[in-house]
Amino acid sequence: MFDLKGKVVAITGASSGIGEAAARLLATAGAKVVLGARRTDRLEAIVAHIRREGGDADFLTIDVSKRKDLERLVKKAGDRFGRLDVLIGNAGLMPLSPLDQLKVDEWERMIDVNIKGVLYGIAAALPIFRKQGSGHFINISSVAGHRVSPNGAVYAGTKFAVRAISEGLRQEVGNKVRVTVISPGAVESELSSTISDPDVKQQIDDYRKMAIPAEAIASAMAYAIGQPTNVDVNEILIRPTAQPT
Ligand code: NDP
Repeated sequence: MFDLKGKVVAITGASSGIGEAAARLLATAGAKVVLGARRTDRLEAIVAHIRREGGDADFLTIDVSKRKDLERLVKKAGDRFGRLDVLIGNAGLMPLSPLDQLKVDEWERMIDVNIKGVLYGIAAALPIFRKQGSGHFINISSVAGHRVSPNGAVYAGTKFAVRAISEGLRQEVGNKVRVTVISPGAVESELSSTISDPDVKQQIDDYRKMAIPAEAIASAMAYAIGQPTNVDVNEILIRPTAQPT
């Protein structure tokens, strides 16, 4: 386990799946974590559990499709713990469907959350990282940010965008701010719950039977954060051993 003592980490999408696992694991490693998502009851319960285990945690109910909410999240980290060392842009949804079904509302939602949510995080934290002279963005893309499959055109588009934006950010920010992209394969979470087409959902749930625990992705975050500040882990791709593509 990496020693992350004193690091202040804000995590979007921390009410379930990968974000929840990250909050728990990073807190166990000594980080002070600030959790953001929409489901307040879930955030409250996770924070209470982390505190009972001796960790430092707080939460804020946010919707990452609202720019102000990301500003509130990074402010909360500053007010509560005095600084912000890492922002994990993790919130996302995956309502897969064939383009022919014209589920335009779902396309827009993915763009708003998966892309704009990450951009609003950058807009909120970058000025703070500049002022501090240090900081670390960890953005969650996907295997779908490397390859496109049927039913996943828009989702993959959003995840390619996360990689493109993160790489552009990395090239621009210079030698004081680190940028990491983590691209998971199938991971246990609630991700398929937003698929509205029952046939596509069944197909995906069947495919995802070999999913690995979300802690596997949280460990990769701890690895990236735990490196010396002059070491920037840029990209990590993690699949279940049993995932073919
Ligand atoms: P979950 O559905 O379990 O978690 C998604 C999280 O995002 C929840 O905490 C949800 O919280 C939050 N969220 C969704 N919409 C919003 C919003 N508008 N504002 C704030 N928070 C929001 O799935 P995962 O843990 O799997 O997903 C985390 C990330 O990992 C996503 O970006 C996903 O694309 C990516 N990923 C996941 C893979 C997997 O196999 N699990 C594979 C590749 C990538 P709430 O509903 O409370 O707001």
